[in-house]
Amino acid sequence: MGNKHTEERKPSRTKTPTFQLELPLVADAGQVARLGAHLEVGRQFYNALLSAGQRRLRRMRADPAWQVARAIPRTQKQERRAAFSALRESYGFSEYAFHDLAKALRVSWLAEHLDAVLAQTLASRAYRALNRVCLGKARRVRFKSKSRGLSSIQNKRSDTSMRFVLEPGAAGRPQGYLLWHHDRLRALIDWDDPVVSHGLAHEIKYARLVRRRASSSRAQGADREGERYFVQLVLTGQPHHKPRHTIGTDTIGLDLGPQSLAIVPRQAEARLVPLCAELRPDAQAIRRLQRKMDRQRRAANPEHYDDKGRPKKRAKGIAYKAWQKRYGRSVGRCAPGMLIDHLRRTVASTGGTLHEVPTRTTKLSQYCHGCGAFVPKPLWQRWHQCPCGVGPVQRDLYSAFLAAFLDPAADCIPSCAQYVIPWEGAEARLLAAHERATQRAKEGQVMPRSMGIPRAGARLPKSPSEATQELLFLSSRGKVEAWKHRPEPSRL
Ligand SMILES: [Zn+2]
Repeated sequence: MGNKHTEERKPSRTKTPTFQLELPLVADAGQVARLGAHLEVGRQFYNALLSAGQRRLRRMRADPAWQVARAIPRTQKQERRAAFSALRESYGFSEYAFHDLAKALRVSWLAEHLDAVLAQTLASRAYRALNRVCLGKARRVRFKSKSRGLSSIQNKRSDTSMRFVLEPGAAGRPQGYLLWHHDRLRALIDWDDPVVSHGLAHEIKYARLVRRRASSSRAQGADREGERYFVQLVLTGQPHHKPRHTIGTDTIGLDLGPQSLAIVPRQAEARLVPLCAELRPDAQAIRRLQRKMDRQRRAANPEHYDDKGRPKKRAKGIAYKAWQKRYGRSVGRCAPGMLIDHLRRTVASTGGTLHEVPTRTTKLSQYCHGCGAFVPKPLWQRWHQCPCGVGPVQRDLYSAFLAAFLDPAADCIPSCAQYVIPWEGAEARLLAAHERATQRAKEGQVMPRSMGIPRAGARLPKSPSEATQELLFLSSRGKVEAWKHRPEPSRL
């Protein structure tokens, strides 16, 4: 819509590196009541935006022009795009139109609780949620219930409205406050924590208020409702690297499976680790629940399943998509998408390069460097053992080894000759890595079956639902260890 939006748009679209820092807030009873009231208004406002936006989306999709636009082949990119953007324009289905909508909806008493700029970020949020539905990436939007409430609200600038400030404090150390309306919420700052002091030395892009339910109302820092408040600062720059995560120069091959990760550096010790081991004990219960849902789904949509109840095949997308579809269950449980994102960011921030090896063309999981043969392994086969004399070696570790010595300059195509010398040094390391994993399993850690560790009394599984690797990474000159030990990145 008008030009006036283009300048408002800029702050959120500039692509400077960004990281986050979260600090707990101290709020007294009066502040808690006011925060609760503001967030409640925010919730109602967000729901109103969703509801109005949903009407726009429905009307737009009901327009015959929508079907016409959909019928334009994807090869005619420009025409397709033009048709859709004309529709979006006329039905007001765009981020800017939602900002206007927010302006219209933010009236009288609402305005006392909700600053214009926060209303705008809520409008962007509602638009993004609806746009996912529009693009077929989500089935529906989620209205915020009164009981769960709005758990966060954010600004998009740091000079007005809700913002974080540092002021001179006791012992020569600055004290930080989140300012919102007339309240000043003190942040608990541990200046001795290098992560905190590093973060606060950087420019703040904007602040986000986060409300989380504490385990009980008696939990430290919780208010009477059992809720805790935090400020998340979105900062310009790179996150802190703890000194123990010194940046190395080795090249590391990674084989990421849905349940395990094989890490094989060219030089150092190799490792085979399960992903999200702490989540696994519940896996059976979750699986039971999912099977129940699955049965219900089959009953409701019989046309998507063949006569044996198997889902009908769909076209495969990129490797990761295919991987996600194939191993949906274990992928969901172990969230490798987040891991990959984290890996990508970490490698980038240490000055390394992350090469994602195309699994379909490289087929490292089938390759044998001894004879150069590509032999597909059934999923239940955890070991690489070739008549030519290579192996036995755990297949994920072997793939990671192959990845570590790939040459991106040679299109990541493996050749027998390049592996002869590396293999001499690596074989023992790979066996040792598997040995250590076996040892941890004996000590009681639950390991996924794909790691090829025999369990006492367990029959040999041959179920195709068990998963192995599909994605391979080659990370050169970057220390990959860092992401493993650092806490999860805070979610947006
Ligand atoms: Zn061979």
